Amino acid sequence: MTKENLVTERTLVLVKPDGVQRGLIGQIIARIEAKGYSIEKLELVHATAEQLAAHYEEHEGKPFYQPLVDFMSEGPLVALVASGHGVIPGFRSLAGTTDPTTAAPGTIRGDFARDWGVSVQKNLVHGSDSEESAAREIAIWFPED
Ligand code: UDP
Repeated sequence: MTKENLVTERTLVLVKPDGVQRGLIGQIIARIEAKGYSIEKLELVHATAEQLAAHYEEHEGKPFYQPLVDFMSEGPLVALVASGHGVIPGFRSLAGTTDPTTAAPGTIRGDFARDWGVSVQKNLVHGSDSEESAAREIAIWFPED
């Protein structure tokens, strides 16, 4: 691939309340930067009910939905926009699988998260799963963008 073909993507990352509460913001951001991605926007926020309803609309009605929204409201979270070639799949690779029990060592979830006995909700981070999701999610957390 030539340099001209490189497309810079943007993704929406959340350091969930468990990551903030456990003091892992710095280590998580360090991994994003160490991979060579740029941090374009960053904010510590206490999520509103409206933001969480929009962010997790695809999961509405599932058994884990309300406990997930409650957990995401427990304390502040960090919302950030990271950019770079392939950052959408790249960050999800850094994050590891949804279930921290099986997330590979070397990933954020694999290294820092574990099953706390309440579903798999406390897995430290969120990362957009497609360009469409990234655009939608960036607009939720950075509406001025
Ligand atoms: N989640 C949960 N129970 C489940 C599946 C998911 O609590 O059985 C939570 C978990 O925090 C996960 C989030 O819901 O990160 C969104 O789920 P998704 O399947 O989109 O996983 P992700 O893309 O975050 O890996």
